Amino acid sequence: MRIGDRRVRGQQAVSLAAFPDEAGGSCSTSISIITSASSERDRCRCRSTVPTPISHAAVGFAIAAWTQQRLPTGRVCIVAAACAALPDIDAIGWPLHVSAASLFGHRGITHSLTFALVTAAVATIVFFRGNQWTQGRARIALTLGLALVSHACLDALSTYSVGVEFFAPFSQQRFRFPWTPLGPGSGGVLGQLAQEAVVILLPAVLVGWLGIKVRRRSVPSRAAAA
Ligand SMILES: [Zn+2]
Repeated sequence: MRIGDRRVRGQQAVSLAAFPDEAGGSCSTSISIITSASSERDRCRCRSTVPTPISHAAVGFAIAAWTQQRLPTGRVCIVAAACAALPDIDAIGWPLHVSAASLFGHRGITHSLTFALVTAAVATIVFFRGNQWTQGRARIALTLGLALVSHACLDALSTYSVGVEFFAPFSQQRFRFPWTPLGPGSGGVLGQLAQEAVVILLPAVLVGWLGIKVRRRSVPSRAAAA
């Protein structure tokens, strides 16, 4: 479904806020476009931060472990983990009754590529401003950007919410991937957490741990070669 102008997009957004649902068509980029609506239960799913921040942070850590040239410092790992969890800061809009279809609604602007770009630049300037970071600053910015983008991509793997606004503020179209392994199952909250642990948390911790291990091993060999 192509939405041509801002006025029509706004109408669609209102509709989504009132009756969010995962149903929708698909576009040529094989990403599902969320277009329509159904039940009260689905409306509640708009207020979910699954995957949880700890899983997002674990993915940020794994990205830091593998994207730095050498063993990543604790600061890089911590800031990358924080960046990966940061987009869900939009949850503060829930008690303020911010519309789910608003630019500032859940999985809106804070989950966009624009937010990732700007936040990565700001975080790099704020946390890595010293001379000791000069050489690796560009790579750190890339790491933080990837950590931020990973959040939106993981959210797009879930059936919670009305989708992710990847291209906000330029488009309010919401997306999710065709494969959505994360969603309300029959096991209640514990079942959902177990599902998230299997799909995201444990693999991320394992990949991050392997990254650190590999980088640690390469330190002595580099020193010997020097
Ligand atoms: Zn999120």
